[in-house]
Amino acid sequence: VSENRVLIYIFGGSGDLAHRKLYPALFNLYRKNHIKHNFAVIGTARRDWSDDYYRSTILKSLEELPGSFNQKNSFTKHFYYQAHDVTDSKHYIALDNLGIELEKKYETQGNRIFYMAMAPKFFATIAEHLKSQNLVSEKGYNRIVIEKPFGRDFASAKELNDAISDTFSEDQIYRIDHYLGKEMVLGLLPLRFSNPFFEQVWNRDFIDNIQINLNEELGVEDRAGYYETAGALRDMVQNHIMQILALTTLGAPEKMSAEALRDQKQKLFAGLQVYKPEEVSKYFVRGQYGASDIPDHEPAYRDEPNVAPNSTIETFVAGEVHIDNDQWRGVPIFIRTGKRLPEKNSRIDVVFKPRQNPIFSQPDEPNILTIEIEPEEGVALQFNGKKIGQTTDPARYQLTYQHSKAEIAQVLDAYERLIYDVILGDHTNFSHWLELEKTWKFVDAIRQYWDNNAPTDFPNYKSGTAGPAASDSLLQRSNRQWIYQP
Ligand code: NAD
Repeated sequence: VSENRVLIYIFGGSGDLAHRKLYPALFNLYRKNHIKHNFAVIGTARRDWSDDYYRSTILKSLEELPGSFNQKNSFTKHFYYQAHDVTDSKHYIALDNLGIELEKKYETQGNRIFYMAMAPKFFATIAEHLKSQNLVSEKGYNRIVIEKPFGRDFASAKELNDAISDTFSEDQIYRIDHYLGKEMVLGLLPLRFSNPFFEQVWNRDFIDNIQINLNEELGVEDRAGYYETAGALRDMVQNHIMQILALTTLGAPEKMSAEALRDQKQKLFAGLQVYKPEEVSKYFVRGQYGASDIPDHEPAYRDEPNVAPNSTIETFVAGEVHIDNDQWRGVPIFIRTGKRLPEKNSRIDVVFKPRQNPIFSQPDEPNILTIEIEPEEGVALQFNGKKIGQTTDPARYQLTYQHSKAEIAQVLDAYERLIYDVILGDHTNFSHWLELEKTWKFVDAIRQYWDNNAPTDFPNYKSGTAGPAASDSLLQRSNRQWIYQP
């Protein structure tokens, strides 16, 4: 493995994301020798910390990981801290000076990654200062990594994108969608495009409907400050669900490259049906969790810390999405996501059309292909056969494949993989601005209708249940049902 040389600036280096995700991910890359000697990290945030103190917080965040104390300790020696207020120009000069010093020491050849791990309202200011104070290196590469949320509607996303684009070109921008780093999401294209068995029937002639579930067991936890301004539609649908939907339905890319994939996503989203106001309540359902039935157990969303007592923010969304192109016209794609559902579970169910069978007396049961994204990682295929014994009765067979726990423990987790992709300069698993443009416009149409028509029935599902009844009716009206029943 040749050495990856890089200096990483982490804006928000004292924060939750940095400690829970970024430091463990970087350490795992270090443990696996993807970064070795020639890297350094500058953590920056408002607090006045010494390098030693900063390193001790990083060590703490690595406690649960494999690796010796010595190895973890040597890893943290690559980390430096610089207190900084993002709005103060002088501080960027200090950041640059420290960078220049570390570039010499670690021979990182001018390669710089700027990781935005703080509130989105600061992203544009930081990007502007990186340019005006000359932090953008002239020697190596410059890459900026942006966390979600990327805007809160199309207009604010565009404003943010324009501001960042003043400093960075599209090929220097890495918008993180950590679902795109999950094993089974990465496995979607190989599954679809290396099996004639699936590829040939992946269209409206054979598929009846597709269901995408990203269900969460947890409630809002301590993130109400953000969630109250977002809701499930912005938090989960615009990004994660739309990206998974695209990978499930896009046409065959010419080859596996970021450009070919982006082109196919673009073509797919060109057919995405944006709903008119009068269509929204037909195709989309929102929900908000109430308290659980068990006394003193889980509180209602409105009783969570920092949530307004009359909040109309949705914690649940179910919807029917349509793609108007030759491959998918008329095939409903049902999506569902919510908090405080019975269990955490992300999966895709592809439901094939049942036929009126000309040979056997009864119609076929539908073939169903399930792709489990988490917590299990695997694939299950349901199909028809004969019941065992002296009978001609049909039976349901199921083939399953699952990655083992041991295998899963060996591979890079989503953040590790995506950060490594940034270091390698591979855009394949990041979202392009053109995709955000389309998905925000889709989400804005629903959001606008919802904002203009406040819900009157919130809370409309109990914690620990599968969401509001309307989510089931969405499918029942066309004689369908959710394949996944928690
Ligand atoms: P956090 O509040 O824990 O951390 C914010 C950081 O920004 C802190 O280090 C703080 O010191 C620093 N900061 C705040 N104001 C500053 C200023 N004026 N100047 C300099 N530094 C300042 O937030 P977080 O949870 O780590 O989230 C960071 C980003 O990651 C956000 O965009 C969030 O939406 C995104 N994100 C977080 C998670 C998560 O699990 N925490 C998941 C997905 C996305």
